[in-house]
Amino acid sequence: MAVVGPSRHSRVSMSVSMSLMQGTAGPTAGGQQGGLHAAQPYYHPQHAAAPAHTQEQVQPDRPIGYGAFGVVWAVTDPRDGRRVALKKLPNVFASLVSSKRVFRELKMLCFFKHENVLSALDILQPPHLDFFQEIYVITELLQSDLHKIIVSHQPLSSDHIKVFLYQILRGLKYLHSARILHRDIKPGNLLVNSNCVLKICDFGLARVEEPDSSKHMTQEVVTQYYRAPEILMGAKHYTAAVDVWSVGCIFGELLGRRILFQAQNPVQQLELITELLGTPSLDDMKYACEGAKTHMLRRAPKPPSLSAFYTLSSQATHEVVHLLCQMLVFDPDKRISVVDALAHPYLDEGRLRYHSCMCKCCYTTASGMRQYTSEFETTAPQGFDDHWEKKLTSVQHVKEEMHKFIAEQLNTSRVPLCINPQSAAFKSFASSTVAHPSELPPSPHQWD
Ligand SMILES: [Zn+2]
Repeated sequence: MAVVGPSRHSRVSMSVSMSLMQGTAGPTAGGQQGGLHAAQPYYHPQHAAAPAHTQEQVQPDRPIGYGAFGVVWAVTDPRDGRRVALKKLPNVFASLVSSKRVFRELKMLCFFKHENVLSALDILQPPHLDFFQEIYVITELLQSDLHKIIVSHQPLSSDHIKVFLYQILRGLKYLHSARILHRDIKPGNLLVNSNCVLKICDFGLARVEEPDSSKHMTQEVVTQYYRAPEILMGAKHYTAAVDVWSVGCIFGELLGRRILFQAQNPVQQLELITELLGTPSLDDMKYACEGAKTHMLRRAPKPPSLSAFYTLSSQATHEVVHLLCQMLVFDPDKRISVVDALAHPYLDEGRLRYHSCMCKCCYTTASGMRQYTSEFETTAPQGFDDHWEKKLTSVQHVKEEMHKFIAEQLNTSRVPLCINPQSAAFKSFASSTVAHPSELPPSPHQWD
């Protein structure tokens, strides 16, 4: 970043402990058009708005998580002192596949506008195209996630479970309406703040649904414990129903406070599922590959033991089990959709609680009356378009398009941000390029 002159010093001295600093007001300005700098408003300490900017009051930047594809840090936005999450999308240009995947995730984060889906608040100003290697996205910072809550000792009441499940389904309805399959719904990807507001995150494995059932889709998706039986059985094509299966597993986990199907490998995973649901009929396995079908038919048939759901928790009422049994259905065609699940009476209380005091779509008038929105579970105004992906044929091409895309996103009234190389956290931040190995979904089982 070719920022010169006294402004640089003032910037560095103000933000020496912060990973972020304010950049120049144009994403391609650095190094490209030297004359542009003079026209930009430089950042001066005396213009710093809030006293929270002083070092004593600023919380240190720290890593908070490792997604399937990227490292997330809690940092302070120097423009307003607000704590935000900074995600580094690593190895962006390692291959055409990885660069397209990152571009897709970036576009999705900028596309989303929903209270229960994490979206991009900002993207850091990239350097000149020749030096463009990494992408950093800023999102809202949420203190916890459902995994941390489930393994903690804090009590989870029926009301908690209802409002969490409601928000997961509400976010998923929006995603599915945009034709997006998340493909990695698990407790760790469901962020929760101190008010129990939940947001679906990590779109590193998300993609647009494939309408052509003859087209093969990758099976290297979904953390094994939450993986739908059709994927475990090698289905070449699958639908949004894979996300519903994952939600069913999480619903069971919220009730029992332990992973519902916790197996060592995909074959054992399938074993645990059939112990509960019984051996599927041939028709229920219509999407399975031949090898997996043969494996299943060779085993002694098992009867379903759905009554086991009642032993999960004292909170497992008839209503709970009724909904759970419709989510955990072997055949994806018979599994309940997100829209139908939201219409289940079990979700009524969660909906009421959410819209009474947690949402941003309803409001309370001065006289204390609650004004409810006309649409409790909104859909996306249009589907997420992925046709651009097919036109990208080289890493360099993706790089140019991504650089252009980020420049368009930065075209706002806010001063853009960039990474502060003088910050204490910069070194470890810059070196954290590899995804956490245990977080990567294991490879699918080879049935044939
Ligand atoms: Zn509302």
